[in-house]
Amino acid sequence: MEQSTLQEKLRLIPAVDKLMADRHLAVLKELYSDEMVKRVVRAALDELRKDVSEGKASQEDFAPEALAIRAERILQKRVGKKLVQVINATGVIVHTNLGRSPLSSRVAERIAQAAMSYSNLEYNLERGHRGERNAHLRQIMLELTGAEAVLAVNNNAAAVLLALDSLASGKEVIVSRGELIEIGGSFRIPDVMARSGAILREVGTTNRTHPKDYIEAINENTALILKVHTSNYRIVGFTREVELDELVSIGREKGIPTMMDLGSGCLVNLSPYGLQDEPTVQEILALGVDVVSFSGDKLLGGPQAGILAGRAEFVEKMRTNPLARALRMDKLTLAALEATFEEYVRAEGPAAGIPTLDMITRAPEKLAEDADGLAAAINTAVGERAYVGIEPGIGRVGGGALPMGDLPGPRVSIRPWEVSAARLERELRSGDPAIIALVKDDTVLIDPRTLLHDQASLIPGLVIEAFDRCQASPDRK
Ligand SMILES: *Cc1c(COP(=O)(O)O)cnc(C)c1O
Repeated sequence: MEQSTLQEKLRLIPAVDKLMADRHLAVLKELYSDEMVKRVVRAALDELRKDVSEGKASQEDFAPEALAIRAERILQKRVGKKLVQVINATGVIVHTNLGRSPLSSRVAERIAQAAMSYSNLEYNLERGHRGERNAHLRQIMLELTGAEAVLAVNNNAAAVLLALDSLASGKEVIVSRGELIEIGGSFRIPDVMARSGAILREVGTTNRTHPKDYIEAINENTALILKVHTSNYRIVGFTREVELDELVSIGREKGIPTMMDLGSGCLVNLSPYGLQDEPTVQEILALGVDVVSFSGDKLLGGPQAGILAGRAEFVEKMRTNPLARALRMDKLTLAALEATFEEYVRAEGPAAGIPTLDMITRAPEKLAEDADGLAAAINTAVGERAYVGIEPGIGRVGGGALPMGDLPGPRVSIRPWEVSAARLERELRSGDPAIIALVKDDTVLIDPRTLLHDQASLIPGLVIEAFDRCQASPDRK
């Protein structure tokens, strides 16, 4: 483009104030502050200026309407909602990347109440003066776990850190080499240990640790024997692990406290549902361990939290540790956690108000019925564009829990004719809401187990929209 025409074209770009006054910006100005709209209008004009300089602008790009659309796109990119609802069609229940345990409306309602009102968070209503934040959870947690004392913090990583700092700072903690675990998101036992100021004393080998390994490692500087639930993997084959009850007797004999980092924090026996490997918190405490720690949002099915339960003298040390203040849970979590615990004592059972447990314990007939209904609805919607069927699959508890625990159930399979399954899966992910599905053998799989409330009814429409987007910009398989 010649210099003169370029200058002429640039002169056609409207001024910020003029565009701000245009009717096409009215909707944006109704929703967002003048300052924000002005900022994105400026950005839209800068973009256009750049397009003009690079010879990429067309006549229509100068119209106020086009500029308003441009401004809105920039605004959405900068300040639009990014944490959005997604549909989990993976069959992985406690999906760490998708937010772990969803809450029921009954539990979520309690978060809203705590959020929108003053509460007795740290106020003792009987005495009329300052109270303690953890007091609200104490009774029901003692009731459910059978522990002598309990304390709730921000998450289980914080619970482990607080326990180690309170009980073993500057002293040795004995852990089996087979249990030096890493959980996704960079929680590693040796690193947490180092941060707490405790000294890691590794014993045994990766596959085998014996009671005498622990006994020989105990010295005058030993503060704690720690057992870690290898919740996200299993060592199989030629193995020897010292069971918790053996460790408790070793600890008692030598006068060393024992702790178990349990991870999942299951309160109900899941073996009737084919999950044999997960001990309950109550079972672990009944073995006589001094402290147990677990998450609030794994098998407990509540909000993100870390719970410490056990002997009063040790829990008291953690409660009064200054670090506890930095790791404390907020009032919204507290409200959700209290409501979650209440679900465990209801007549209808915990699965009624805890979606995680509901999904784990769902009857095979119900899963089959859901799969049939969904497959039929998708089939009607997609018509000739795909073959829709049902095939057997394996769901997972997820969240690092029960790596060997299979949850067999039906999956709806969609085999597209014109596009690849990978492409369809990608388009499903860009829907609103996005569907996170699996792909196997050029088939998209939808596991009905992890669909919540009305989500199944949205899926046929979302699948159609995804097919339409595939067609709009085809890439043949
Ligand atoms: C998940 C897990 C943790 C970390 O718990 P968060 O609540 O995610 O902080 C620690 N230890 C074990 C054994 C776990 O399974």
